[in-house]
Amino acid sequence: MFSTQTDIKYLKGVGEKRAKQLAKLGVFTVRDLLYLFPRVYEDQSKIVPIAQAELNENVSIRAMVCRACTEYKVRKGMTLYKTKITDGESMVNLTFFNNKYAAMQLEQGEEYIFFGKITLNGYTREMTSPTFESAESGERIKPVYPQTMGLNSRALEKLVRQALDNAVIDDPLPEKLRNDYCLMPLRQALENIHFPAGEDYMSEARRRLIFEELIFLQLGLLRLKSKNSRTTACVMPQNFIEDFYKALPFELTNAQKRAIAQSAEDMAKAVPMNRLLQGDVGSGKTAVAAALVYNAAKNGFQSALMAPTEVLAQQHYETFCNFFKDTDINVTLLTGSTPAAAKKKIKARIAQGEVALVVGTHALIQKDVEFKSLGFVVTDEQHRFGVNQRSALSGKGDCPHTLVMSATPIPRTLALIIYSDLDLSVLDEFPKGRQKIDTFSIDGEKRERAYGYVKKHLCEGRQGYIVCPLVEQDEELELVSAQELYSKLADGFFKGFRVGLLHGKMKAEDKKEALRAFAQGETQLLVSTTVIEVGIDVPNAVIMVVENAERFGLSQLHQLRGRIGRGKHKSTCILISDAQNSEAQRRLHTMVTTSDGFKIADEDLKLRGPGDFFGSRQHGLPDLKIADMMSDTFILNETRRAAVAMLNENPALEGEEYALLRKAVNAMFFAAQN
Ligand code: ADP
Ligand code: MG
Repeated sequence: MFSTQTDIKYLKGVGEKRAKQLAKLGVFTVRDLLYLFPRVYEDQSKIVPIAQAELNENVSIRAMVCRACTEYKVRKGMTLYKTKITDGESMVNLTFFNNKYAAMQLEQGEEYIFFGKITLNGYTREMTSPTFESAESGERIKPVYPQTMGLNSRALEKLVRQALDNAVIDDPLPEKLRNDYCLMPLRQALENIHFPAGEDYMSEARRRLIFEELIFLQLGLLRLKSKNSRTTACVMPQNFIEDFYKALPFELTNAQKRAIAQSAEDMAKAVPMNRLLQGDVGSGKTAVAAALVYNAAKNGFQSALMAPTEVLAQQHYETFCNFFKDTDINVTLLTGSTPAAAKKKIKARIAQGEVALVVGTHALIQKDVEFKSLGFVVTDEQHRFGVNQRSALSGKGDCPHTLVMSATPIPRTLALIIYSDLDLSVLDEFPKGRQKIDTFSIDGEKRERAYGYVKKHLCEGRQGYIVCPLVEQDEELELVSAQELYSKLADGFFKGFRVGLLHGKMKAEDKKEALRAFAQGETQLLVSTTVIEVGIDVPNAVIMVVENAERFGLSQLHQLRGRIGRGKHKSTCILISDAQNSEAQRRLHTMVTTSDGFKIADEDLKLRGPGDFFGSRQHGLPDLKIADMMSDTFILNETRRAAVAMLNENPALEGEEYALLRKAVNAMFFAAQN
């Protein structure tokens, strides 16, 4: 017998090699394996003739292999295996990537059941890396697992079976809770999520596992919240905000003032503030942070601001220096690329309390960064950090007040649940005088005209961006494409203009220089990759051309477009794309017709599906394996109520009955992210 904590290598059939493959799927223990849920199910009771199989959807077909697979070495590290299959009426071309094992299993003349998506290439039907098994194995609902090189779905299925048959599975949900919400016991749920006895069982199993995951999440969040409502030594009773307003070059919006007032009120208390500042790109979140930093400094406390990239940290540093240039507030910058000697000095100054604000990247959470009196912590674009990184920075003070800023527009009701450990301020208003950005979508043939339009703006003293095509998952290629485009433009169409280049792989020094030159107007046109996506602020830049716009996601395009329209001049965004497919067209149309971040986020959700949108990248919460915050809102609310009730009755979840639950919440929240 196994416990769920047993190392996976004690399973029969798991040696060094298999263990490594499993590790790639995040499976190290028996529990990990049991919680590796099928991606989809292959319902073999629904086998269809090839000719009737829906395209681009998962289908099961029964077909004979016409000949053994042929091997094609495409390039180093990439081998294709191809063959044809038929059900007597229609043909499908099969391709496997780097999967010799699968290819060898297929025997000429034998019949198999294939499961996967059929696509059409011209008039030819194709199937790529389907799962399959001998047609003789009988019909049932079968799990299809995420696969990795050398480890296919069937092999995983066998391991899962073995684990289920041999593991002692204790249920972390107390019996009373299960009864109140009609939830299956864990063993039964796991059995049915992997090997459903029928559709009803499968959906009940799902509900139970989603409930479990979400209640862990809710309990964890509520616990964080109660942790956060300890007392703080950083009380800032005096309000100097009005002084700061006087020094500002612009009038703050009402939304900004409201957010500042809400925060200042929190910060005057002995309970640490924990607030999310949500505002669309360009709504002026930085000025809110600046007012609060000012107030903290005047109350005798230091502040720290953490940004996700060096480029952004650098820019914030300059912005804050500018905000505070007529004050006695010292600002310093600390990032990974700060030279060691300078770092040492800066750290000493921070420790002695000589600087009132440190702007930086992850470098700020290193162990040896010590503050004299850290009272206020700001994280920008907070969805790029995990909850743990946030708290690591806070740990450098005596429960300092925290503000996290984000442009990710999450529907409000959901935000309150996801960020239940946070209070919320929303900037729902843009600075005065902002003009709507005009957005056009054109095809490549009109590129010259678009460039001509850019030129016209440059001649008028404005600046612009040209965003290079996104090369997915290949930074090297992206860099080549950026450099190529840069040379082409600088020596071609924009000869005689001052053109700059910025991409992620540049040395920190060079990035900084490229950005400085652009910010100060020394370069007029910046050819850039998506490194400008977050936060870059150059109000004189009024025109942006995005190449291959179809390769970007909606939210990303919205973020990119947010780099223009930041000053008093009319701005224009031109999306270039030759993509014909309807999804790309729909995305581009959305960009052309809307500028509202919330609407765009909604549309993005519809197109990409919530799993993607609410992946951990977006909010810094633990990854969810089965629950989906968007479509499982009903269970989300249910678990919320259950968690609140449970904690009201038993705040620390004491007692035998809750022991497993306590452990599970800890594992999800406080260990998984380290
Ligand atoms: P984001 O919310 O996207 O971080 P920023 O804080 O970078 O936006 O602000 C965008 C631009 O608007 C900056 O150039 C900033 O100086 C300017 N800005 C902020 N608040 C105001 C305001 N109330 N009036 C005019 N300009 C403002
Ligand atoms: Mg910003």
